[in-house]
Amino acid sequence: MSAKNPEYDFNWCPGCGDFAVRRALEWALQARTQKLEVPMTNNVIVTGIGCSGNLVHLIEGEQPFGFHGIHGRTLPVAFGIKSSRPEVNVVVVAGDGDFLSIGLEHIGPQAQRNIDVACIVIDNGIYGLTKGQSSPTTRRGFRTATTPYGKIEQEVAPLPLYLALDVSFVASHFSGRPRDLAKLIERAMDHRGFAIVHVASPCPTYNDTTELLRGNPRKGIPPLVWDVPEDHDPTDRAAAAELVARPGVPLGLLYVNERPTFNDRLDEATAGARVKGTRELLESHVI
Ligand code: SF4
Repeated sequence: MSAKNPEYDFNWCPGCGDFAVRRALEWALQARTQKLEVPMTNNVIVTGIGCSGNLVHLIEGEQPFGFHGIHGRTLPVAFGIKSSRPEVNVVVVAGDGDFLSIGLEHIGPQAQRNIDVACIVIDNGIYGLTKGQSSPTTRRGFRTATTPYGKIEQEVAPLPLYLALDVSFVASHFSGRPRDLAKLIERAMDHRGFAIVHVASPCPTYNDTTELLRGNPRKGIPPLVWDVPEDHDPTDRAAAAELVARPGVPLGLLYVNERPTFNDRLDEATAGARVKGTRELLESHVI
């Protein structure tokens, strides 16, 4: 539990993948702050609503700033923080139910702006906090509290979606390898632009995918996860599209596109602009 907020009594269920993602994020933040010689308070974690949203209260050790916002609106909050305080490192943590349902409408506009924000999307394929309703990534046919005869709809495919929306850094991983995940999160934070690390993560209480993700040779279950080939060129968008069309969960960086961020373009657009005084502004409205 966070030393900063000892009154907060929420905790995750035993075995929840959120523990490992939190640890990976802590390692990535420590590595980044040491590398850049900046204080931990140079970082702001913005979370949404859901089990993953509680991560902001549960960070161990040195504390970054945190903002536990409203459902689906992590990106507008992150955009506001980064626009007004470009020097801080803004990290979004959201679940599939938050980021890909009500939050989906914000991904396209922020990708077009290329806001300099790193997002960690913890995908456990269920609404865990509200006790097991189907989410956008719940697989078709899966029985949940809201789909007693099995989910009817086709599930969202997040990685092709991010590529189609031209998110400028797209990576995928899973919570079972937190050391590798930490390095990927650090790369996402270093990327200048809109970065998403999509993390497959089990919810042992309502959608336990642990065995599916890891595989179990004794039961003849092959792992769903597979490493992105070492010779994959992440600047090749067509190659990235081919990779994300394969079944399973790729582990690694899929796509990166270095281009100006929203703040770069804002600086460019306003360079040389003359700031009007209050009187001049008021007089400009007098008819
Ligand atoms: Fe984790 Fe699922 Fe429990 Fe939420 S309900 S804390 S996602 S195991």
